[in-house]
Amino acid sequence: MSARLDCPLCGAVVVEGTDDIAPGACPGCGARYEGGESSAPDAVRTALAGFGADALDPAAVTDAVFRLTPADSAERGVAITSDARDDFYRWWLFVRAGDDGDVIAVLSAV
Ligand SMILES: [Zn+2]
Repeated sequence: MSARLDCPLCGAVVVEGTDDIAPGACPGCGARYEGGESSAPDAVRTALAGFGADALDPAAVTDAVFRLTPADSAERGVAITSDARDDFYRWWLFVRAGDDGDVIAVLSAV
């Protein structure tokens, strides 16, 4: 079993060849990622908790991130993606918060 995760914001390989993926940060652009659930809504809920943004509505954030074009995602610094595994995959929410590191502000603006 090996898993691979590419950053949807900059294209860097974040994790490759590991048995499992833990939340962390992209080595390319510094975006933080959280989630790791088998459905996108569950991944967003887990990610919001991980980011300390549980006050935001997971359903609304899920809906919003799936409406973003790649250009929107790059501009706003938010994207959702799935990793690649042998027989299934999991969803991850990436947030690039900029210099002040305010992930909640970025997510609130999606
Ligand atoms: Zn990146």
